[in-house]
Amino acid sequence: MRVGFIGECMAELKKVNGVLEEGFAGDTFNSAVYLKRTFPQLDSYFVSAVGSDALSKEMVDFAQSESINTRFLFTHPEKHIGLYKIYTDAQGERSFTYWRNDSAAKCLMSQLTNDDTASLTALDLVLFSGISLAILNKEDLPQFWRLLTTLKESGTQIVFDMNHRPALWKGRDDATVLYEKAFEIADIALPGLEDFNFLYGFETVEEIIDFLAPFSFKQLVIKNGSSAVTLVNEKGEVSVVGLTPVTHVVDTTSAGDAFNGVFLGAYLTGESPKASVEKAAKCAGFVIQHPGAIVDKAAYAELVSS
Ligand code: ADP
Repeated sequence: MRVGFIGECMAELKKVNGVLEEGFAGDTFNSAVYLKRTFPQLDSYFVSAVGSDALSKEMVDFAQSESINTRFLFTHPEKHIGLYKIYTDAQGERSFTYWRNDSAAKCLMSQLTNDDTASLTALDLVLFSGISLAILNKEDLPQFWRLLTTLKESGTQIVFDMNHRPALWKGRDDATVLYEKAFEIADIALPGLEDFNFLYGFETVEEIIDFLAPFSFKQLVIKNGSSAVTLVNEKGEVSVVGLTPVTHVVDTTSAGDAFNGVFLGAYLTGESPKASVEKAAKCAGFVIQHPGAIVDKAAYAELVSS
């Protein structure tokens, strides 16, 4: 089976013991990596655009080293990939500076031919997020919605996670208008309570369930940090999957991304929604006990085989 992840992967710079280290990460890209690492039998495609420069090539090499299929990772002739630097202050608090306003990934839609769209319909499932919506050139959004409609009509399951990043939006309403459009098209939604709290002031999972009731998902999965995950099925039946909270959290970056990738892999390989959440929570719980968005490959492989 084939799973597509639409979004942006950026170069990441951070100082480790005084030495500047380079990595690559981005929300849907991280999910693509965790899906592939956990379910090697599935094909994981990253759908985005990079430049033709050396740094972009390194990113493509990194994706390929994770066995990500780069058939839909297009090369823009002039643009470069985005970049961010992580700063850690004396108290261990992290902050990020981004250089992504003119990145190749913003131009994804202009790189897609009709043939590419036709090929994308072979995907069984595709994930996009609020970040994917925020970074795409605004004038390309109608084409993006048409692409998703074409995929849905061809039988590709559409999956959406808000993953709201206020800094990427002019204002709340710019984001919520698009998110509500995304909920309309999504077959599976993977939102978090934190995003709904920020955008709508909701304090409980019940408020999210009520708000999303008019939409028709095959599966709704509501994440809530270390608290239980709530599932709502097609018939509107609600169930709760308890978690074991991690007490020694090292770095929460990409907890939700790892959860999404592993949940979707498990779900696609026929596991029940409850079992899929348990597997996803186990992997996300592991990821937050290790530094970085994409944790050490060997350590993760041990978890998968355990
Ligand atoms: P997001 O990054 O989307 O906001 P959450 O913070 O809700 O995601 O976390 C996603 C998933 O990661 C949770 O559903 C849970 O499985 C796992 N997780 C996050 N924080 C913890 C924690 N402290 N203990 C155990 N699991 C956690």
